[in-house]
Amino acid sequence: MSAGALPPRAKAAPVLVLCRQCIRYVFEGTVVCPHCSGNAREIGERYRDEGYLGIETIQRIDRLRDAADEDRAARGTKT
Ligand SMILES: [Zn+2]
Repeated sequence: MSAGALPPRAKAAPVLVLCRQCIRYVFEGTVVCPHCSGNAREIGERYRDEGYLGIETIQRIDRLRDAADEDRAARGTKT
C-alpha cells in the first residue's frame, strides 16, 4: 500500500444551513438571506416554533462527527 493514497477530502463542498427566518437553505455564514432578505442568523418565530433549532443542532453534531471520522482516517489511526 502506498502512503500517499489517501482519499481526497471533501473540504471544498459548501456547507448549507437553514435560514432562521424563512427555513430555506443558505450557505453557512450567510448573514443576509438571499431568499427572504432577512437576517439568516437571527432565530425567527417559525424557526423556533417548528423545531428547526433541534434539527440543526443534530445536523451540526453529525457534521462534527463526520469531520472527526475523516480526521481520524486521515491520520491512519484505528480505534
Ligand atoms: Zn430566509
